[in-house]
Amino acid sequence: MNIHEYQAKQLLAQYGVAIPATEVCDTADAARKIAEQLIAKGAELIAVKSQIHAGGRGKGTFKSGFQGGVKLCRTAEDVYEKAKAMLGNVLVTKQTGPEGRLVSKLIIAAAPEIEKELYLAVLLDRSSSRPVVMASTEGGMDIEEVAARTPEKIIKESIDPALGMMPYQARKIAAALGLKGDLIGQGAKLLLGVYKTWWESDASLVEINPLCIVRTREGKETLLAVDAKFSVDDNALYRHPNIQAMRDLAEEAPLEIEASKFSLNYIKLDGSIACLVNGAGLAMATMDIIQHFGASPANFLDVGGGASQDQVAAAFKIILQDPNVKGILVNIFGGIMDCNVIATGIVAAVKETGLKLPLVVRLEGNNVEAGRKTLAESGLTIISGGSMADAAQKVVKAVA
Ligand code: GDP
Ligand code: MN
Repeated sequence: MNIHEYQAKQLLAQYGVAIPATEVCDTADAARKIAEQLIAKGAELIAVKSQIHAGGRGKGTFKSGFQGGVKLCRTAEDVYEKAKAMLGNVLVTKQTGPEGRLVSKLIIAAAPEIEKELYLAVLLDRSSSRPVVMASTEGGMDIEEVAARTPEKIIKESIDPALGMMPYQARKIAAALGLKGDLIGQGAKLLLGVYKTWWESDASLVEINPLCIVRTREGKETLLAVDAKFSVDDNALYRHPNIQAMRDLAEEAPLEIEASKFSLNYIKLDGSIACLVNGAGLAMATMDIIQHFGASPANFLDVGGGASQDQVAAAFKIILQDPNVKGILVNIFGGIMDCNVIATGIVAAVKETGLKLPLVVRLEGNNVEAGRKTLAESGLTIISGGSMADAAQKVVKAVA
């Protein structure tokens, strides 16, 4: 699960990471009011930032034609204008896909003058099975380019999960980031805070881009997390009710939300062949084989090892709500799963939804004979698949 920038900053602040004073609003009038207060307190520059679960906002474009999901303003009136142009409009960035995301909340914050933009992230390195800190002196909006063209400019520090980030590692990264004088100690403290946020929240990613060196009004240099991205491991969400409360359903695909209510693992894709499978590995293999025979899967769907009849019926209804679906492939290998439960669920769902699309079913394993009998005696037009390849070919053919 992802959360918004302003929520990520709240979490980071709890671990002592310095963030700009930040307020959130959902109307242009409120944006103006916050800006007036910030200006009264001496702010010279105000940042107006679209809150969506995707990066690349700075260089994004609204469907209205308005350029930029992050704007800097000098007056409260300008903040009002920019807020009006963003709220209720759809922002398209490199990370949103062409459909973009509706902006319904903004951060209004005093924007410091930035002297240098750095990059910092903590994530899990799957090849070493350890947390890794990635940092770069070349932070800002083009970090993907930096990683692609000059990978040597990305510093990596592997962390022993049993020990956590050691102070010497934090100082080493701070030094590699070119921090000098006071900023080394400050940077090390910030790194430890960011790592602790990542670790204690069961995050899969905490990314701060840019991490900025800014100058205070007294002329002192200091570090600030100007942007923040945070993803948490869904399997650990139950341990973090505070983070769970940050879930923004408006940012998630509606069918995926519906599926999560039935504990179904569903991810919508762009193809035309829906699949209903038990087991994540088999679901991936099913998607591959559909692709292999020249079509594209409409979704990933794992109904789990012990799905009930109700779950199967719910799964059917969910895949049918996708208008791109032209055919369905059910691929079940009954280990724990009783094939007859699946068959009964399919028959009930097909009758209830009045399915007209081609349906290919391949059943194998536990109680398969009873399952096949249920399908055969249902009076429904169901194409039976022998092997996985046979079933995939049949559904691809039926759709073509
Ligand atoms: P992203 O494009 O979605 O990653 O959004 P960011 O929050 O990173 O903003 C994009 C860019 O806008 C940053 O790299 C900064 O250069 C600039 N920016 C964002 N917030 C501030 C701020 O508070 N002050 C200043 N001076 N610039 C900012
Ligand atoms: Mn950013």
